[in-house]
Amino acid sequence: MNIDFTPEDEAFRDEVRGFIAANLPPECADSPTLGVMTDKSVVKRWHKTLYEKGWAAPAWPEEYGGTGWNATQRFIFNEEIARANAPRLMPFGLTMVGPIIYTFGNAEQKSRHLQGILSGDVWWCQGYSEPGAGSDLASLKTMAVRDGDHYVVNGQKIWTSYAHEADWIFCLVRTEQSAKRQEGISFLLIDMRTPGIEVRPIISIAGLHHLNEVFFTDVKVPVQNLIGEENKGWTYAKYLLVHERTSIGGVSESKKKAAHIRAIARAERNADGEALMDDTAFQRKLAGIEVKLTSLEYMNLRILADAAAGPQSSLLKIVGSEVQQALGELAVEAVGYYIEPFEQGAPPGDVNARGIGPAHARNVWADYGYGRAASIYGGSNEIQRDVIARVILNL
Ligand SMILES: Cc1cc2nc3c(=O)[nH]c(=O)nc-3n(C[C@H](O)[C@H](O)[C@H](O)COP(=O)(O)OP(=O)(O)OC[C@H]3O[C@@H](n4cnc5c(N)ncnc54)[C@H](O)[C@@H]3O)c2cc1C
Repeated sequence: MNIDFTPEDEAFRDEVRGFIAANLPPECADSPTLGVMTDKSVVKRWHKTLYEKGWAAPAWPEEYGGTGWNATQRFIFNEEIARANAPRLMPFGLTMVGPIIYTFGNAEQKSRHLQGILSGDVWWCQGYSEPGAGSDLASLKTMAVRDGDHYVVNGQKIWTSYAHEADWIFCLVRTEQSAKRQEGISFLLIDMRTPGIEVRPIISIAGLHHLNEVFFTDVKVPVQNLIGEENKGWTYAKYLLVHERTSIGGVSESKKKAAHIRAIARAERNADGEALMDDTAFQRKLAGIEVKLTSLEYMNLRILADAAAGPQSSLLKIVGSEVQQALGELAVEAVGYYIEPFEQGAPPGDVNARGIGPAHARNVWADYGYGRAASIYGGSNEIQRDVIARVILNL
């Protein structure tokens, strides 16, 4: 593909930049640099603004509310969103279950769910992982037993991001104990208000509440909530993971983070009293990460341009998460001692708490702590290397 931006692309960039400048509410522009969501109301407000403009789901087919933009335009859009420090929209509906519903769902499911995802009125969470079923996802044990026009679901999910904020959960459940474990799995949509669902918080090492355990006790789920065919859920689950991993690459967010580190390094001093940005050792570290980030950017553009890209999303996930973590570490190094008072002062779950020290140190610890998870969620990097070895390299 041609990686130069055309005059039309630049005009498109101006249009997007102008819209964001005119419509991003100030409280939304103050979002943290990390992947963790800010206030739900802030994200919802920004989601609604994009929805009203018709820009909430650029990658969706136009018939379901997508923009019809090409890969380069979508890339420019993401860059401008990150540049303006706008909050990241929640991916569970827009990037994950939405594409599953319009690709594999029936007409009733499309008309019932897609609109709420697009408008941001209905929030979703992802019920894949279980204690004992993370990397080895096919060993999941949550059972759904057919009883007339319902399934009765029993079991437990874990690491369920934002389950405490979600209206619906999409779940992998076992509907048959077959010889090949992948063949007895189904994909169910479950209303979080259904009796028998209990959500318990898990507080992360960064002191944040975004993770949960979700328990199911005799939860009755209408059979209409089954996506596609019973026992074929593994096919849909894998399709969704490709979308999830591509989005974890996070090029725009990392560019924003690199710019933030430059700002910190201009303000902070090294042990010799010179600006950190003039410190050769520091410059070398930052440049090393930015070189990797630039190659990631081109890889991302290539993968976005290739609609059939499946296992390549694993490449993006590995390099993207490594870049995010390297930037997180460098930011910690740059703010130095200011990392400590923030850690002690931050009440669990509140990433917007004001820490002691300069504004640029705010969120750096939470960002670093949350970033440790990037090589784990969406399938750990070790597992992605295994996918690359088997599927791309045929080893
Ligand atoms: C912040 C965060 C958010 C998450 N959000 C969600 C969510 O919303 N919904 C959801 O369903 N899940 C979510 N997860 C769970 C995530 O998908 C799993 O943590 C991940 O798949 C790894 O599974 P595990 O934790 O059980 O680790 P394990 O599978 O027990 O792995 C432990 C370690 O062993 C390594 N390992 C395991 N098997 C192999 C192998 N075959 N070869 C080489 N190394 C191996 C792994 O790489 C890892 O380092 C989230 C996780 C995190 C950290």
